[in-house]
Amino acid sequence: MTGIVDAAWADAWLRAAAAVISEHRKELNDLDRAIGDGDHGENLDRGFAAIVEKLDESPLFTPGAYFKLAAMTLMSKVGGAAGPLYGTAYLRAATTCGDAKEIDGAKLAEALAAARDGVVARGKAEVGDKTMIDAWTPAVDAAAEAAGNGTGAAEVLKAAAQAAQTGAESTDPLVARKGRASYLAERSAGHRDPGAVSSALLLQAAVDAIEQAGAGNGGTDKA
Ligand code: ADP
Ligand code: MG
Repeated sequence: MTGIVDAAWADAWLRAAAAVISEHRKELNDLDRAIGDGDHGENLDRGFAAIVEKLDESPLFTPGAYFKLAAMTLMSKVGGAAGPLYGTAYLRAATTCGDAKEIDGAKLAEALAAARDGVVARGKAEVGDKTMIDAWTPAVDAAAEAAGNGTGAAEVLKAAAQAAQTGAESTDPLVARKGRASYLAERSAGHRDPGAVSSALLLQAAVDAIEQAGAGNGGTDKA
């Protein structure tokens, strides 16, 4: 089991994220059309495509540098609520990772928590408000638990991605209290929150990237 993640993984994550967002662009737009303005998929697709363009320009050497690039690009290219929120998440993760070349399970759990805290600081949503926080907070809790058991980065990410998926599903019956969907009040119930869905997709892409990054992670057992 891969104990650490590195720059090759971060590069693979952002590329996998761009691919999965592009693949789910229509689904995310449709979810957002039901309770918002129908642009969530295209917003994120534009942002992650711009990230990949920048990745192709010059290599970076730490996960933190990749996260910073993602943050800056999302903040400048993505309008609406999600751009600044995801931008803040990546920026906080970048700060937590600093200049480290290798990130272990504990550090990764810390970075995920910092990312979530950034979204909360910016958007002021709580669990149950039917936002991406309903995916992020269970993910952060699952990551912390996995890391507390001494597991490596791969297992921490897997736990986070799985919890985010369950968290996204949990938004179905909720009435939105934050963001555009809150304008619909009770009528927002019965639909899944698009930002919670995209959050789960992004975390699953982080898991998939571990395999894609392959040798870059060395397959080490270092926890
Ligand atoms: P907009 O609502 O401006 O069109 P998007 O469609 O790109 O932006 O993103 C909508 C998503 O953003 C929602 O599904 C929700 O998950 C998330 N969101 C909106 N407001 C908040 C907030 N205050 N806190 C956390 N997430 C939020
Ligand atoms: Mg929208």
